[in-house]
Amino acid sequence: MIKKQVRNKAAKTDKKDWNMKEGILFKVLSVGIFAFTSVVILNGCGKKKAISEADEKMKPVPFTDVKISDDFWSRRIETNRKVTIPAAFKKCQETGRIDNFAIAGGLKEGEHKGVYPFDDTDVYKIIEGASYSLSVHPDPALDNYVDALIKLIAAAQENDGYLYTARTNKSRTLMRRLGDERWANLSGHSHELYNMGHLYEAATAHFYATGKRNLLDVAIKNAELLCEVFGPGKNETAPGHQEIELGLVKLYEATGQEKYLNLAKFFLDTRGPGGEEYSQTHKRVVDQNEAVGHAVRAGYMYSAMADVAALTSDRNYVRALDELWDNVVGKKLYVTGGLGSDPSIEGFGPNYDLPNMSAYCETCASIANVFWNQRMFLLHADAKYIDVLERTLYNALISGVSMDGSLFFYPNALASRGQHARSEWFVCACCPGNITRFMASLPGYVYAKRGDEFYVNLFVTSQTTVELGGRKVQIKQLTNYPWDGAVRIMVEPERSATFTMCIRIPCWSRNKPLPSDLYSFMQDNDEQVNLKVNGVPVAFDMDKGFARINLRWEKGDVIEFNLPMPVRRLLANEKVAEDKGRVALQRGPIVYCMEAPDVEDGRVLNLLLEDTANLEAQFRPALLNGLTVIKGIAQAYRLEKTDDEQTIVKERKNFQAIPYYAWSHRGRGEMAVWLARDENAVEPAGLPSIAETSMVSASEKGIGIEAVNDGLVPTSSSDTSFPVFTFLPKKGTTEWLQYDFGKVYEPSIVDIYWLGDEENRRPESFKIQYRKGSEWRTVWAPDGFRLEKDKLNRIIFETVKTDALRIELQMQQGFSAGIFEWRVK
Ligand SMILES: [Zn+2]
Repeated sequence: MIKKQVRNKAAKTDKKDWNMKEGILFKVLSVGIFAFTSVVILNGCGKKKAISEADEKMKPVPFTDVKISDDFWSRRIETNRKVTIPAAFKKCQETGRIDNFAIAGGLKEGEHKGVYPFDDTDVYKIIEGASYSLSVHPDPALDNYVDALIKLIAAAQENDGYLYTARTNKSRTLMRRLGDERWANLSGHSHELYNMGHLYEAATAHFYATGKRNLLDVAIKNAELLCEVFGPGKNETAPGHQEIELGLVKLYEATGQEKYLNLAKFFLDTRGPGGEEYSQTHKRVVDQNEAVGHAVRAGYMYSAMADVAALTSDRNYVRALDELWDNVVGKKLYVTGGLGSDPSIEGFGPNYDLPNMSAYCETCASIANVFWNQRMFLLHADAKYIDVLERTLYNALISGVSMDGSLFFYPNALASRGQHARSEWFVCACCPGNITRFMASLPGYVYAKRGDEFYVNLFVTSQTTVELGGRKVQIKQLTNYPWDGAVRIMVEPERSATFTMCIRIPCWSRNKPLPSDLYSFMQDNDEQVNLKVNGVPVAFDMDKGFARINLRWEKGDVIEFNLPMPVRRLLANEKVAEDKGRVALQRGPIVYCMEAPDVEDGRVLNLLLEDTANLEAQFRPALLNGLTVIKGIAQAYRLEKTDDEQTIVKERKNFQAIPYYAWSHRGRGEMAVWLARDENAVEPAGLPSIAETSMVSASEKGIGIEAVNDGLVPTSSSDTSFPVFTFLPKKGTTEWLQYDFGKVYEPSIVDIYWLGDEENRRPESFKIQYRKGSEWRTVWAPDGFRLEKDKLNRIIFETVKTDALRIELQMQQGFSAGIFEWRVK
């Protein structure tokens, strides 16, 4: 029988959950955005009122209270605990990050190691991840290890609370970045406060997990120093990389010290105007309405603004956040939910500028985007934020870590020629540490609660117990999401009670990929989402993307619904030039890609998927931990050249598309999220290479310039029977050789065959540069610039978007240099 709908009553604060612990009055309250059970230390009765108001605010159900028992996430969380956290600590050990604390604390002799002044934060982030893990999974060995690290960190802290090993250790490599004295380069590259922000996040997580104050006291001592140094009329410098604000809010929540919240707000308000877009100091934060600059900085800043807005009800913050969010979701979000299209700033490009092969989509930026959208949801109680969060979570974010937990992507590209692969670690290692802390806290994103309203935000087999309508209520969710949209929610109040169950009906199941017009489905799906309670269809209100079912609930009540998951074709807004004539595939929340191993000849970029092609979903339990693939037939295009003719040959090719997050687990090769559906977007195999169609020029006219892109490679570096270019008569100078493409490409691989004979030697050094506006910038090639003889030297670099490349070389003293062949991919 359908139960009578009862009007939802305003929730009353239950005062019974006060308790005394170790002589201090505590109130267990979930305020942490990481969905942590936060313990607010109260000073007196005056605070009670503020707390009961806070109870009416939307709060996540703490991850410590949500037990996930599905196949999809439990495996990843367990892998994070068993593999990623220990491996990341080990890397910190091997790279000197941990010794840096010991050296600063006088416990060890030696030189500071590392080339970045923010290396301390990797250790902090992993401690944060380990703490989250400890709070749900006791592990004495890990607990002891973390305590040992905390001893080193505490030793590294200077007497007045300052903690920043690069400066304490007087790192010679880093001195220029740090500046001569404390805070001297704060708005630039010192990252001093960025370091300290991560310390606070780690310290509060560790305190909640273990109840120990060893790291919290270090953080408080440091924060006290900041309160003395920074503030109106004191040092008013805006930090170059945001993060301290998030840390201060957490420290405020853990200690109840309002000065920390005020300092967080101060650091936000002191930004701009007149600074750089790169670090979001170009305008005051409340005047910003377009997402610009470095994406992780932006994401952390928006998240901190949302924290401060929630705690202070600052309307100007909310207005700015709403405009920034509209801009990102309407014009700057990749279909995978990733952020950042410009590798040169690790950040946002212009509106609708979303290149695929050079997409940045840093893993940290995805995590920041999840932080931000969770906080926006807590502010506005609107499902559209969770729609964005879910897209990022299931696609761009988890693509950042391999399924075995040991390899990481820094950028997460949406197309590849095989130049992309995950790495064990990075010199700049922000992403792995961020993964450790994010994965461990994932269960905190599933549910939320406001008064007598319970929110089901994500669909994951899990259970939790909360208080609703004055009763303890156990909620159990059963589903095979993301592969199947059928969801059962068992509602078990200890005795019957009236409250509202709010179920998110994802926008993708309501014919919108995102709450904006950036992407659309090619065809609408008419299937409706029907909700049943105890097998009977139930009336519900839709409000802000939530189906609200207000009933008197009884033990054994079951809510059932099915989110239809047909294979959907997505189109991008026509203003996104890079996706013109292209289509992407989505099923449920999962965005798909086509990858080399799933097409007969390993070619993907030359495929065209016709709009009429039949697509079929199939679950494959043995493939990549078990996943649903999409099978179909595409047309492969190949250019065939004879002496006097070129023809395009088309062939039918079977393919299976896999979830984007699962790519790059089976070796290097081609990959594409956006497939051609229009002939103009196909890149037929056999096309002339970028080099072949480029205009070649050099700083010195030299001899034989046409040789560098003739496709011919000699048998050895001294085999001058093959055409070769040399800078002769120049010797010992710095010179360049340049390709002008005539259009914008996204290269990331070059192959160079060097000349070596009596007059020409391989150069002393060289670099690859790309043109950005009127500047030449050096590419980032993690494995360096190779100079081996008798072979094509492959240089893989971070994909750039450019219309020209240069080889800039320094010749050996007394010798010239030459090149047989220079290829670009
Ligand atoms: Zn990162």
